[in-house]
Amino acid sequence: MGHRAVNDFNRDLERRLDAVREQKLFRELRRVDSAQGPRIEIGGQTLLNFSSNDYLGLADHPALKAAAIAAVEKFGAGAGASRLICGSLAPFHELEEALAEFKGTEAALTFSTGYATALGAICALLGRDDTVILDKLVHASIVDAAKLSGATLRVFRHNDLNDLEAKLKGTAAHSGRRSPSAHQVLIVTESIFSMDGDAAPLKEMVELKDKHGAWLMVDEAHATGVTGENGRGLAAALGVSDRIELQMGTLGKALGASGGFICGSRALAGLLVNRARSFIFSTAPVPAAAAAARAGVEIVQSREGDKLRERLRARLAELPTPNFHLPTPIAGAIIPIILGNEDQAVQASAQLRERGIFVPAIRYPAVARGAARLRVTLTAAHTAEDVARLAAALDEIIARKP
Ligand SMILES: *Cc1c(COP(=O)(O)O)cnc(C)c1O
Repeated sequence: MGHRAVNDFNRDLERRLDAVREQKLFRELRRVDSAQGPRIEIGGQTLLNFSSNDYLGLADHPALKAAAIAAVEKFGAGAGASRLICGSLAPFHELEEALAEFKGTEAALTFSTGYATALGAICALLGRDDTVILDKLVHASIVDAAKLSGATLRVFRHNDLNDLEAKLKGTAAHSGRRSPSAHQVLIVTESIFSMDGDAAPLKEMVELKDKHGAWLMVDEAHATGVTGENGRGLAAALGVSDRIELQMGTLGKALGASGGFICGSRALAGLLVNRARSFIFSTAPVPAAAAAARAGVEIVQSREGDKLRERLRARLAELPTPNFHLPTPIAGAIIPIILGNEDQAVQASAQLRERGIFVPAIRYPAVARGAARLRVTLTAAHTAEDVARLAAALDEIIARKP
């Protein structure tokens, strides 16, 4: 059956998939038949969910849902075109004003996803004459953006300031005379790291980038809404926001909706509107997403937001982690339980699932080979009993080191 050429194509793909299976890296989508929350329904089973980045439980919050529904009623289901063509609907502008105020910057620009944000921003700013210096553990979207930009790519050891400075010095030597417009250097880091849960030394990094005349971009995907006063993020908590050129975040994690953003100067937002290709050549997101995100931004800064963060911290304190041999202290809501072997991580995840608990196994390429792990995320929507159940199950399945 089927055309010969197409059959050959499919056979070739099956061989590639077999190679993925052999490496224990095969993945499949799991259909979820419920809303996102501490309990999700998969295959007719209700599972206790510790996999979501919905840290404050806003994805299923009545205020976000109401805002989305109201936006659908007023602005329709789709945006019709890219923002520059005719799709720059009011909800995007309202959201951007709210984000700029939230982060204390002159301006903000939103994108359809965090991935598109990284791609658009980094490629708008850098070209072949420039250098981009990445923390070893930054998110794939940043790595892809750095490669696509054509800039010289350097990587420094995770959170290692000495290595960062060495790379900065190497860059200066490499490009000879540094003029402000030619040979720009951009450092990119996350604030709370997505797979390790630890924090970047932002204060020291700001000093270093100033000393060497580099720019700094900080991806606060996992700190926004969670860390610092009003959930403004780690940069604000450390008092260095106004010294960071690009503050990136996502709308799909603690903010409960979908999309990504850059906060910074008016000049930055203006340049991105004109140069960020993932912004220019892509249909605007649905207005409902922007309206929901704006409701999320409001809740995060409210008393309710404070209460949700308190609840999240209480849950984190209840999970006994010292025995899991974490590489670094936990700074946000992500708890990596590093098992090393890919197969072990998959098995541990399956054993938890047999106990009605959903914790994903994270493997290469999301993390390095041999650093496979369970990635537990807690949210404000979990109860103390939920965490106790998780702790008991982990106790059973993970052989504790003395
Ligand atoms: C999730 C994530 C992104 C991508 O954001 P999306 O909105 O999911 O595309 C970017 N950076 C980091 C650190 C992330 O964790």
